[in-house]
Amino acid sequence: MPLIDSFERHIDYLRISITDKCNLRCVYCAPSKPQRNFKQSEILTLDEIVRFVRIAYKHGLIKVRITGGEPLLRNDIVSLISEIKKTGIRDLSMTTNGIMLADAAQKLKMAGLDRVNISLDTLNPDKYRDMTKMGNINQVWDAIKEAERAGLSPIKLNVVPIRGINDEEVLKFASLTFDKDYHIRFIELMPVRRNIDWRRSCITKEELMEKISKLGDLIQLEFRGKGPSRNYRIKGAKGIIGFISPVSDCFCDYCNRLRLTADGKVRPCLFSDIEIDIKTPMRHGISDKELESLFLSAVAVKPAGHYLNKRDKSFSVPASMSKIGG
Ligand code: SAM
Repeated sequence: MPLIDSFERHIDYLRISITDKCNLRCVYCAPSKPQRNFKQSEILTLDEIVRFVRIAYKHGLIKVRITGGEPLLRNDIVSLISEIKKTGIRDLSMTTNGIMLADAAQKLKMAGLDRVNISLDTLNPDKYRDMTKMGNINQVWDAIKEAERAGLSPIKLNVVPIRGINDEEVLKFASLTFDKDYHIRFIELMPVRRNIDWRRSCITKEELMEKISKLGDLIQLEFRGKGPSRNYRIKGAKGIIGFISPVSDCFCDYCNRLRLTADGKVRPCLFSDIEIDIKTPMRHGISDKELESLFLSAVAVKPAGHYLNKRDKSFSVPASMSKIGG
C-alpha cells in the first residue's frame, strides 16, 4: 500500500544522516560558528537505524539515501549498507564527498549499495582546497574512477553553483557530459545559518540553462516525476544535466521524502523545525507497533511546503546540513 501524506503526496524516500562528523568544511555547508559534534552515544546505532528502516519499508518506503556529515567516517558503514539492503529497500544510494570512497567503493557495492552521488563543486585543485578548507581533489577523482569500476552507477556529481565562487565553472561541469555518462546535478544554494548571503549567491536554473545552452540544445528528458531533479541532455552528449531548485522552482508539492537525523529524529521537511524523536523511545523499549505509530505521526505532520521563495513567510534555517543530512 503506498504511503500517502495529508497533502496527497506519495512518501517513499528516506534520507538518513548517519553521522554529523565531516572531514571537510565546505564554505556553504559548515555552520558559521563551530558546533559541538554529537557524542557517540547520541548517534543512532546500526541496529536502531535498521530497525527504523524495517518499519519504514513495511509502510511503503523503498528508497533510502545515506548521507551525513560524511557517511564514510562511520566504521560500520559496510555492515550498515548490508543490513539496510536486507530489509528489502530497492534503491540504496549514498551522498559522499568521495575523499574516502576509492578504497571502499567495491566493498560498498558488494554489500548492496546501488549508486553514489559525489559532491564536487569545482574542478580546480586549489579552489577545491579553498572551498572545502582542506580537501585534495585527486582523492575525489580516484573515488569517481573506483565508483565507476565498482558499478556504483550512474555516477552523479553534486555541484552547488555559488555566485562569485564557482559560477564560472558551470560550462566545464556541463561539458563533462559529452564524454561521460555522468549525471551532473546543479543544486541551488540553500540557506544554512547566515554564513553566506544565499539570496544573492544562489543561481537559478534559468540562469544556468542560459549559460549551458551555449554548448548545444538542451533537450528535456522527462517532466517532473517523483524526484526533485529536472533533467536535460545537451544534444549529442552521453550524460545528463539535472537541476535541483528548491528555491526558484520549489518541489514541495511533489516532495516524497522524510529525513532521519544522526541523533534519531524524523524530520519531515528540511526547512521546518518539526522533529519526532524516535531514539529516546527506542532506548526506553517501545514495541514495533509503537514505533510504527511514531513513524506514521511523522508522515502526518509533514508540512505543505517551506516557503523559501516567499519573502513574507517564515521558514526555519537549519543550523547545519551535516546534522540533518543534506
Ligand atoms: N559529506 C557528504 C557530501 O559532501 O556529499 C554528504 C553530506 S552533504 C551535507 C550532502 C549534500 O548537501 C552535498 O551534495 C552538498 O553539496 C549539499 N549541501 C550542503 N549544504 C548545502 C547548501 N547550503 N545548499 C545546497 N546544497 C548543500
